[in-house]
Amino acid sequence: MPKRTIDQIDVTGRRVLMRVDFNVPLEDGRITDDRRIVMALPTIRSVLDRGGRLVLMSHLGRPEGKGFEADFSLEPVAVRLGELLQREVTLAPDCVGVAVQERVSAMKNEECILLENLRFHAEETLIDKARKNPDKRLTPEQAAQVDVFAGGLASLAQIYCNDAFGTCHRKHASMYDVPMKVSAGRRVAGFLLRKELQFLGDALFAPKRPFIAILGGAKVSDKIGVIESLLPKVDRLLVGGAMAYTFFAARGMEVGRSLCERDKLDLARSLIQKSGDKLVLPIDSLCAAELAAGAATRTIEGDIPADLMGLDIGPRTIERFASIVRTARTVVWNGPLGAFETKPFHAGTMAMATALAEATKAGTITVIGGGDSAAAVEQAGLAERMTHISTGGGASLEFLEGKSFATIDILDEA
Ligand code: AMP
Repeated sequence: MPKRTIDQIDVTGRRVLMRVDFNVPLEDGRITDDRRIVMALPTIRSVLDRGGRLVLMSHLGRPEGKGFEADFSLEPVAVRLGELLQREVTLAPDCVGVAVQERVSAMKNEECILLENLRFHAEETLIDKARKNPDKRLTPEQAAQVDVFAGGLASLAQIYCNDAFGTCHRKHASMYDVPMKVSAGRRVAGFLLRKELQFLGDALFAPKRPFIAILGGAKVSDKIGVIESLLPKVDRLLVGGAMAYTFFAARGMEVGRSLCERDKLDLARSLIQKSGDKLVLPIDSLCAAELAAGAATRTIEGDIPADLMGLDIGPRTIERFASIVRTARTVVWNGPLGAFETKPFHAGTMAMATALAEATKAGTITVIGGGDSAAAVEQAGLAERMTHISTGGGASLEFLEGKSFATIDILDEA
């Protein structure tokens, strides 16, 4: 069901509490990639341009949850957002508490306040941590603390907007408990969330065919859910990266010192069986004795010698994968096809980014599933040439696994 979006609700003179994902990479206090801020701008502008009073909230990194830590302050984000909007953005001293409440109550139309890092309070993540770890059951006191924390945030505004796709797979207080405390009819999605759901959802549930998925990365175990969810839906599933070697080993091939999950061979065998001819594995690998920049390489087809490891797909595989991509009308890509951070093992991933950029130009819908593949496409300078690059690595992976997100389910329907 499509979700009601921010433009479908009157915000003039009203306070909108908007959950964004401003978890940007920082180096020495400087933002090295502001894409997550830029991507939220249309939703932010939609509120401010219509005379709304905007209260933004986000997490940044992983502070301890015991109060303010300068290294995790959202101050650089407030500055950058102010530059992008060309208007003042006030950074609140905290995200809850009397001072914040007073400051927010005094807001005027078109004003924008960014609350300080949500994760300075352990309550933000407590419930999610307890859910994942049965040893960390929530005590009644902790449950009450979360309730007070969520209540404090919810009291800041009349309308709740979720534009934080990258955090939607986490049932954190600001993502779930806060909107639950805002009346139905006032819980909407932002434009970025809508865009993510549209592109990932269409690719998964109504793809133009042929529909090709490309999966890479280090471990089969991390991607089992995605492989199982995608296999019935795709026309071809191309597998590269280190996880291909677990499939090779499952077929009885030698993989030398390549990364390989020996305890997952049975699983890989059953996936091979289930997949029929949909699963396309590499034909050749770029191998070296060590994963080091400029290492001497050998291209190998078949068994990999005991002293070598496969670190990238080889040239014949690049050609095969690219030719399959050329036939596609929808491509979803998640995970690099080699150890792309280290040259020369970047070549396969870069070549695939180029193949996708060319496919986009020819009318194919190309969706990049966040995380490392998004970083690789950026590195290749081809980000603008993809149909959609997801802002959520973990979230897009879980979406592709077919999981539903409670944080999205609770938003109003259109
Ligand atoms: P993942 O987080 O599972 O998507 O894995 C991404 C990581 O896998 C990246 O850091 C890549 O460098 C690494 N990777 C991909 N292919 C290989 C390979 N053949 N050997 C070693 N590492 C690889």
